[in-house]
Amino acid sequence: MAMRLDKLLAHYGIGTRKEVKTYIRKGYVQVNGQIIKKDDFKVDYEKDQILFDGQPINYKPYVYLMLNKPSGYVSATKDNVHPTVVDLIKGYHQYDLFPVGRLDLDTEGLLLLTNDGDFAHKLLAPSRHHSKLYYAKVDGIMNQEDVLEFEKGMMIDHYQCQSSHLTILNTNENTCEVLIEIFEGKFHQVKKMVEKVGKKVTYLKRIQMRNLKLDENLKLGEYRELSEEELNDLM
Ligand code: URA
Repeated sequence: MAMRLDKLLAHYGIGTRKEVKTYIRKGYVQVNGQIIKKDDFKVDYEKDQILFDGQPINYKPYVYLMLNKPSGYVSATKDNVHPTVVDLIKGYHQYDLFPVGRLDLDTEGLLLLTNDGDFAHKLLAPSRHHSKLYYAKVDGIMNQEDVLEFEKGMMIDHYQCQSSHLTILNTNENTCEVLIEIFEGKFHQVKKMVEKVGKKVTYLKRIQMRNLKLDENLKLGEYRELSEEELNDLM
């Protein structure tokens, strides 16, 4: 894919467009072994070898991150009250990342961030019915009747939810732990479905989207890039 050398280096984070132009004119940049002093020189970032001050530039236009979202962070790029999930990401400022969909302020777990609008659009499209798996701690005991209610698809706020899967992991005296798999993403959907059967979610964590599992090595607030394979599997 061809693009201007100064634009590529600025987007990579070498400096502002103006600073980058100066570096290019001063001979800091080589393309395929040649010093290039023209800032509008066209490069192909997939094929050309680009060096800045002798260091290779491995430019990529899109970034895909998996974040283990902690509670207390808003799934947005800006917020007047709370810190956002984007505030947790360091070293990618030039990419204008945004979260792919939303988790509630108090929900933890798997959240993707990207700058690829098409990717986000495809992953979120309601028509695709992509699966999302949540682990929840619940006040109250969920039972087989609830499993059937989830399976049938319940009515919430005048919206007919699709069938979803409830798996009861264990029950204690007044609480239980469950897995809930849904195939749409309505506002507060998991909490509202649990409420509808008379119980209350006290902790919620997303652990999987389609076949992408939250990396167990990521502590809360940590993130990493998706591998090529994970990205292909998601689409
Ligand atoms: N359902 C909820 O209720 N909250 C979330 O954050 C995600 C799904």
